[in-house]
Amino acid sequence: MKPFIGVTCGFSGEDAMIFNHLRATYTKEIKRAGGIPVILPLEIHSEDAEEYVSKLDGILFTGGGDISPHLFDEDPIKELGGFISIRDVTEFELMKAAQKLGVPVFGICRGCQVINVVLGGTLYQDIPKQLPDAIGHSPRNTAHYEPFHKITIEPGDSRISRVIKKQSIMTNSFHHQSVKQLAPGLRVTAKTSDGIIEAYEGTDPGWYVHSVQFHPETMSERHPEFREFFTEFVNACRDWAKNRK
Ligand code: MN
Repeated sequence: MKPFIGVTCGFSGEDAMIFNHLRATYTKEIKRAGGIPVILPLEIHSEDAEEYVSKLDGILFTGGGDISPHLFDEDPIKELGGFISIRDVTEFELMKAAQKLGVPVFGICRGCQVINVVLGGTLYQDIPKQLPDAIGHSPRNTAHYEPFHKITIEPGDSRISRVIKKQSIMTNSFHHQSVKQLAPGLRVTAKTSDGIIEAYEGTDPGWYVHSVQFHPETMSERHPEFREFFTEFVNACRDWAKNRK
């Protein structure tokens, strides 16, 4: 049985010409890993979120723009980038439903930030402003598959340690926000040398929560070891689906 994996999207355009917008590499990698990707449209409100999630075996929260800082009780700083409140609402409602139903979740980039905020964490609204000594995390004019900075994996067993199987690896990096305070129930599993959290996972063995701040879906074509993130997630979704009530 192939698990059904919901994949969140952003949008482009405006007024009558708004498009649900998603880079195809996300769905391609879910498919390659043995899942059936299902693109979740924008504007899913609380009354429908649980209906959607009850029919899914996992949710991939994808990359995108900034998260409105009022969602973690902060005023915006001047360096905040663009945000779309209907995407925030959609993903927050889906994530809350996933938490309630115990559906596996995997976060990439913005998705890593969304999951943390829904579970009670906070974000750096802009790394260069708020952490001036941080290394680069958002190179200009650089292809998405380029290994850009080194991440170091925390000692001991973790999901990322089982995927990567070494202490450090070069990853791409396209973010100016990141996790600041990690939410309760999560633990850090990889960081860059400046202390920025690049991967975390849930501590509850009964609920699959895994997030990375980099983009394995755009690395994987040229660096196939990054496919393993999707294989690990899709396998967990399949196992969970077998046992769901
Ligand atoms: Mn980074």
